[in-house]
Amino acid sequence: MKINCLSCGHSVDIGDAYDDYEGQVKCFTCGAILEIRTEEGNVRAVKLAQAVMSPPAKKAH
Ligand SMILES: [Zn+2]
Repeated sequence: MKINCLSCGHSVDIGDAYDDYEGQVKCFTCGAILEIRTEEGNVRAVKLAQAVMSPPAKKAH
């Protein structure tokens, strides 16, 4: 099944394993984290959990 990425607009093919799923998936195109809920192969909810990651900033402790 496919979902539309809220960040880049591409449709992300997440496969049939996600036909009944609630949790996070990563957009392969832009790297944004999407929080999705699917039921019986239908998308019930999609929201952006985390926008595109910026370059890793290392913090010195
Ligand atoms: Zn995307």
